[in-house]
Amino acid sequence: MKIFQCSHCENPIFFENTICQKCGSWLGYFDESKDMHALQPNLEYWQLPDGRQVKYCQNHDYDVCNWLIKTDGDGYCAACHLNHTIPNLEVDSAIEKWRYFESAKHRLVYSLRRLQLPVRRKETPEDDGLWFHFVDKELEGKDIKMGHANGEITILLSEADSVQREMIRKDLKEPYRTMIGHLRHEIGHYYWDQLVWKNADNLQAFRSIFGNEQVDYTESLRTYYNAGPAAQWQGQYISAYATAHPWEDWAETWAHYMHLIDTMETAYHFGLDVEPELRNAEHMHAKATFDPYETQDFKQILDYSLPLFYAMNSINRSMGISDLYPFVISDSVVQKLTFIHDLVRSVKWTQ
Ligand SMILES: [Zn+2]
Ligand SMILES: [Zn+2]
Ligand SMILES: [Zn+2]
Repeated sequence: MKIFQCSHCENPIFFENTICQKCGSWLGYFDESKDMHALQPNLEYWQLPDGRQVKYCQNHDYDVCNWLIKTDGDGYCAACHLNHTIPNLEVDSAIEKWRYFESAKHRLVYSLRRLQLPVRRKETPEDDGLWFHFVDKELEGKDIKMGHANGEITILLSEADSVQREMIRKDLKEPYRTMIGHLRHEIGHYYWDQLVWKNADNLQAFRSIFGNEQVDYTESLRTYYNAGPAAQWQGQYISAYATAHPWEDWAETWAHYMHLIDTMETAYHFGLDVEPELRNAEHMHAKATFDPYETQDFKQILDYSLPLFYAMNSINRSMGISDLYPFVISDSVVQKLTFIHDLVRSVKWTQ
């Protein structure tokens, strides 16, 4: 993500900040300008530096959202508007978990906007919009699973608990498990419906790269959970779970694409050039000269990511924590990521 600054004192601020630590200004993110702004009180509303009046999203009352909306807006920002179900806030620690979920979801929506993908709320169960269900499995008392079905994305409250999430990660032998990773994976299923399934040419191209998704899904998943991934899966897939079915391969690769674009955007805004002192390693030199959201050639993104992640992993190891980027990208995965990049860039969607 890009770096934001307080428009009053120029202090660098995070996307989630509601108050500037330096000058004390109230802050908010305005989706229309894709920027954070310091606010001035103005009667019953707030005023942007350009004089426009705005108000906070209703979820600001719970300190889970800092987005601003127009004064005639219906109460929720573009990210919170997508919620269908939130947890019971009377339950201990539910609000902290909800905050963690919203932070990831707002970052997701920021990226989707920048990719110019359609982001709109479902009005009926049948239409092609989006709903998020963030649910407490313990309270609901039924066998709810995380996943996507026809624009409805279900995320379990337990995934916002770092201890529970780590236990599941170890159990499933995953190198990486985060809330934003879940959201990027599930939204990948949604955009498969929107961008691939609805377009015969894209579907044909998808099948030639990811395989035929018509093979039985339930049976494929059962086989995966019983027998595990195929040997040598790293040559063709970004993760073990991607081997389960072409839909899961797509969603895992889509999530990975979003990881790359977001991290490269951050590196670009920080000007993170990498020039390791290695012998004969020109290919490990990289300069952050491009915004990945505006980059046509996916190879440029990849060529930069390799030295950057090598540097970032090395820094993490210096601190004794696990690698920031615990993945290896094979040629086959490059082809899949390039397909997604080209497909996303071909979509010109008016919001
Ligand atoms: Zn400030
Ligand atoms: Zn909001
Ligand atoms: Zn999935």
